[in-house]
Amino acid sequence: MESEKVDNDRRAMRWGLTCDKGECQERVSKNGKEVFEVCKFKPTIKQVEDNTTDTKSCHYYMQKYDALVSNHSLWNYHAFFTIMKFNKKLFEDYLDRKLTVFDEAHKIEDQIIQFVGFDIFAGQVDECNLNSEKYDFTDLDSMIQLTDDMAFSYAKKIKDIKESAAFQNDPDYELLTGLERRHDRSAQAKIDIMTDKDNFVVNDPLKDLNGNFRTISVKPIDVSKFANSFFETEYQLFMSATIDKNSFCENMGLVKDDVAFVDTPKSPFPIEHRSIDLLNIKRLSYGSTEEDELEVIKTIDRIMDEHSNERGLILTSSIPRCQKIIRHLSPKNTQRIRLCHSKNKDGKTQDEVISEHATDPTGVLLSSSLWEGVDLKDDLSRFQIIAKVPYPNYTEKRTKAKMSKFPSWYTSQTLTKILQGFGRSIRSDDDWAKTYVLDTAVNNVFFKGQPMIPKAYYDVLGMDEV
Ligand code: SF4
Repeated sequence: MESEKVDNDRRAMRWGLTCDKGECQERVSKNGKEVFEVCKFKPTIKQVEDNTTDTKSCHYYMQKYDALVSNHSLWNYHAFFTIMKFNKKLFEDYLDRKLTVFDEAHKIEDQIIQFVGFDIFAGQVDECNLNSEKYDFTDLDSMIQLTDDMAFSYAKKIKDIKESAAFQNDPDYELLTGLERRHDRSAQAKIDIMTDKDNFVVNDPLKDLNGNFRTISVKPIDVSKFANSFFETEYQLFMSATIDKNSFCENMGLVKDDVAFVDTPKSPFPIEHRSIDLLNIKRLSYGSTEEDELEVIKTIDRIMDEHSNERGLILTSSIPRCQKIIRHLSPKNTQRIRLCHSKNKDGKTQDEVISEHATDPTGVLLSSSLWEGVDLKDDLSRFQIIAKVPYPNYTEKRTKAKMSKFPSWYTSQTLTKILQGFGRSIRSDDDWAKTYVLDTAVNNVFFKGQPMIPKAYYDVLGMDEV
């Protein structure tokens, strides 16, 4: 493999210059012996520390090791938690820090959940020669049986391959390493679940259009037992504009007395820059009448007319609701709309849609996913409409199970998302936007979640100090 300098990432991807298929470290056979061979571009952490890498060294590892050897480093959650989950021992000398700062801390649960529990894919079941019809994909015991059968099957495959004449003549270590990894995961999944069965739930399986099983995920309801293995420095600072102490501590398994909570009493942004109008048009739910739904969409039309010369944002709870809004808006306003999801039909990324929006002086983004993590500063958005309260998906089994075990969690999740939504268009103290909330159900969330609302929102929500 030769190194190549390509400044444009997208062009690099098009040329296939990625390491998706790269084996940073692989097992190969040399003189009849199994040895590990490391990619020749991979530096060691010691080389990075001593500054003795060369210009051809792998960019990815240079960045990663540079972060580890630096006094201060900045990580995305996935990269950092991958180290904390799988390579803590390997890098322990470099992880000995006094403080970790976790930004956007209200999203930590979503990150941790990716590292606990497990997913089973149809391809793995086939690879193990198991008949998926033999298993009940709604039942935890049946899923434990499946992981056990998979581990057994992988172990047998590994043994057969190792003993085969073909392998002994020309060993395929890539195949073997993959099988071993899948065996270990299945075996570990069974142990994890068996040790704490009540804490795991089987989500509904995903099926293809013909009703065939595609994938299933088994996830823990309570992540607090796993969370502290990701937070190991002497001090942690969790930052968010939308968390409250009680539910955060409960969710993350933190002892309340060990936690100091700083609830900023006032927003740093002037109240007149972030006004919120609770219009209470109709209460939207699964059972809403068509009339109520249309009344809300009519109001969206009216607000868009009032802001006919500005860009804006409409937030709702699902893709079908986005589509319904588009179907019923006036033709003039429909033309202003840009649907924006994390994955878009035409293959455009969220950033690409937002870039297009920036060139359209009266464009309006419509989304069920831009509630957080997007920065519509200044005139990228001067009005935002919250059409529907974004409850977590109650039909998902984990959500349902978590809700019955931790009743305040559901309210806290909904509240966090609404408050995050409020902030999408006001990004600095001289930025401003007007927010309209149409769904009457928001009152219920504020009522139930009152003790969880951070003080910085009291003024704009007309709440008194409690
Ligand atoms: S070490 Fe770097 S260049 Fe080599 S395979 Fe891994 S990611 Fe690719």
